[in-house]
This record gives sequence, C-alpha cells and structure tokens, in this order.
Amino acid sequence: MKRVLVSGGLGFLGSHLVNSMLKRQDVEQIVVVDNLWTGSAGNEKYIRDPRVKISNADVENFRSDRLFDEVLHLASPASPVWYANDPTRTISANIIGAFRLKELLKPNGRFCYTSTSEVYGDPLVTPQPESYRGSVDCTGPRSSYDESKRCTEAFLFENNRVHGLDVRVARLFNVYGPRTRPDDGRAVSNFVSQALSGEALTIYGDGEQSRSWGYVDDIIEGLSRLFWKADFDYVGPVNIGNGREISVIDVARYIADLVPGTQLVHCPPAPQDPTNRCPDLTVAERLLNGWRCRTDYETGIRHTLDWFAENHFPRLRRKLKRA
Ligand code: UDP
Repeated sequence: MKRVLVSGGLGFLGSHLVNSMLKRQDVEQIVVVDNLWTGSAGNEKYIRDPRVKISNADVENFRSDRLFDEVLHLASPASPVWYANDPTRTISANIIGAFRLKELLKPNGRFCYTSTSEVYGDPLVTPQPESYRGSVDCTGPRSSYDESKRCTEAFLFENNRVHGLDVRVARLFNVYGPRTRPDDGRAVSNFVSQALSGEALTIYGDGEQSRSWGYVDDIIEGLSRLFWKADFDYVGPVNIGNGREISVIDVARYIADLVPGTQLVHCPPAPQDPTNRCPDLTVAERLLNGWRCRTDYETGIRHTLDWFAENHFPRLRRKLKRA
C-alpha cells in the first residue's frame, strides 16, 4: 500500500487528480499540501475521504516524519496573471518545492511533475513535439513560470540520469473546466465569469492567437495514465493536451452565443503572448494506450459554464441557452 503526497492538491488540477487517485486500490494515504495561494478551500469538499489528509502549508517547508512512495508536484500558479505578479514565489514553489519533495521521497519512490507547454515559449514549429527546445525569453514577463518549470525538469531528469530516479513529467497545454477560480485570470474562466456577470468578454489583441484547449476530465485521464503506469521505461517529458487548436476569438464567440446579450471587447495584447500552441501527441498516444482528448470544446465549455453558473452565479442559471 502506498503513501502519496500531492502538492497543490486543493488547486484546480490537483483536486481532480486526487479524485482520480482515490480510485486506486493500492493507495493507503494521500497527503495534500496546499497553501491556498491559487488553490481553493472550496475544493476540499470534492476530495473528502478517510484516506486524504490535508495540510495547509508551503510545499517548500513541508515536514513529515515518514517518507512517501510517490510525490506529485503540482504546487504552482498556472495563470499568467498570478505568476507574473509574484515571480519569486512562483520560482520558489516549483524549484525549491521540488527540492523539498525529493527529500521526502523514499529511495525507490516515484516523482511526478506537471510541467507546461510554456517551455516551448512562442513556438516556431507547430505542432510542438517534446524534442522541440523552445523559444523562451528568460528575461520576459512569463519567465518565472517558464524557466522554473524548465529548471525543475532539469533537476528531475538529471536525478534520473545520475541516481536512477523514477520521473514522470507531463507538459500540460491549456486546461479548463469546473473548479477553476473565477479570479483565475485565464481565458475560459475569464470569459465564462464575464458572460455570467453581464460583462463584455475581454479579448487581448485581435484574438487570432490560438491554443489547444483541453477539458479537465480528458487531461486528468492522460495524467493518471502517465503517473500511475507500471513498467514504464520511457525517460522524458510527455505532452498532454488537446490536439485541436482553436483561436481565442472563436472560443469567446462560442461562449457569447451561449449567454444571450454578451458583447466582446478588444483590449491591448498580453505581453509576449504566444501566437500559437498545439501539442504533437505522438509520444502520448504511443505510451498511454491510445489516450487522447475526447471532449470537444463545445461540450467542455457548456459543462464549465454550467458549473460556474451553479457554483458562482446561481441566480443567473436560467439565462443560459440550452443546447
Ligand atoms: N486571453 C484573452 N482574454 C482573457 C484571458 C486570456 O484574450 O481574458 C488570451 C491570452 O492573451 C492568450 C489566451 O487567451 O492568448 C490564453 O490565455 P491563458 O491566460 O488562458 O493561458 P496562456 O496560454 O496564455 O498561458
């Protein structure tokens, strides 16, 4: 039976991942470490279980008398608004957090990490395979996130090379869905919150920049297959994301259409906003038994809108256009 530590387990992805882990029969205890910087106390209700123990602490300082069989390091903001506002804390959560978690791992334990497609920066090739080394500005406004994710990858893969550490690294592309905070600041949660509040949807720039939008359930399925897989002899990061690329303006128009009367407003472009992002999923499909995202964005966005309406805007629910 395994003891597992999840840093960031009260966050958007972390709480979904704990749910997935609770389906495993070989897990005796899950210790969630979260300082609620970008996580939500409200997510506690989704992961309530006798096997789950929650510790409200910074991952960098977390202490435990016992070592863990697996650690999953998700503690980090993922929204540009949040990480750009506190770069030191972002770098610390990722890198110093990883150092600390490595100390808490049993000698033959497994270290799972959620890295990011941001390691590709503003990519010059599309779709991006894991072998693409990226185009990142290490002095730009996204650098605290991009570079601390890159450095943590280096730390983990070097520990694999030198000490044989069992490392699983997912490079996540854009993820959206229920349990995102309304003040998260990323595109889908912003647009959904704005539409439900009767505000115009804020399009940064012309909106022609594109992303591959992965619905959270699909992404969690991919992560679970990568992180829990036994007999895994692949060493390297694995792209996890939706293979379909859609422009920001198309997503906004779709949401505006679901909430009648919603307007769009163009705002100045976000600094160093990547023009495109799309995963090459060859490695993931090969390693993860044909895994790929199966929820189309229309369905995923309707689920997200419903969840936001229910949880954050209950009086506005009837405004929604039913498909
Ligand atoms: N975006 C936007 N309006 C918003 C929030 C985001 O137009 O209110 C755009 C942003 O400029 C980017 C895309 O949506 O081009 C995705 O942004 P997000 O913050 O979700 O994630 P990113 O991929 O930039 O990390």
